[in-house]
Order: sequence, then structure tokens, then C-alpha cells
Amino acid sequence: MKNKHCEWCDHTFKTNISYQIYCSPECRDAATKEKIAARYQIQRRQRRKGKERLCKSCEKRLSVYNDDTICETCSADPSEVAKVLRDIKGLMNGKDRK
Ligand SMILES: [Zn+2]
Ligand SMILES: [Zn+2]
Repeated sequence: MKNKHCEWCDHTFKTNISYQIYCSPECRDAATKEKIAARYQIQRRQRRKGKERLCKSCEKRLSVYNDDTICETCSADPSEVAKVLRDIKGLMNGKDRK
């Protein structure tokens, strides 16, 4: 028998199993749940980061619920957006000609 410290509650326990790192199934379950929760949180954060988009017109950050390429303020005034998009297109064309 070897004395070990539980990785979850830090209690000392005796075991013959070399890979046992928790004193009880309760501690193992709690540690496993926390690992899964932590991984889930990281995944959720990364997914949100990947979805970060800016309004094509005013460059304001778009809400994650907005599937459009422009924000609500800009989509409320389509003519303004069309004008800005035309300007951007004109700028790109001018660059190409240089
Ligand atoms: Zn424990
Ligand atoms: Zn906008």
C-alpha cells in the first residue's frame, strides 16, 4: 500500500493502484465534471470569438444573433449602406488601377 494525496480533496489515502489519483469515486466524479465544464466553457468562448464580425458599413461589432453583414442601425437605412458599399467598391477599383 502506498500513501497518496487525492488530487481533488487533498486527503491522504492508501492504494495499490498506481494510477489512482482520487481517494473516492465521489472525488473522481467531481473532478471529471469540473474538467468537462472547463472544456465546455473554453469551447463556447472560442466559438463566440470565431463568430465575431463587424458591420460592413460602420464597423460596429455585430450581435451574435445578427446573421446579416450589417448592423441593425445600418440595415434601417439601406440607401446609406448602398452608398457606403459603392464608396468601398470605388476605393478598391482605384487601388487596382495604380
Ligand atoms: Zn478525495
Ligand atoms: Zn453598421
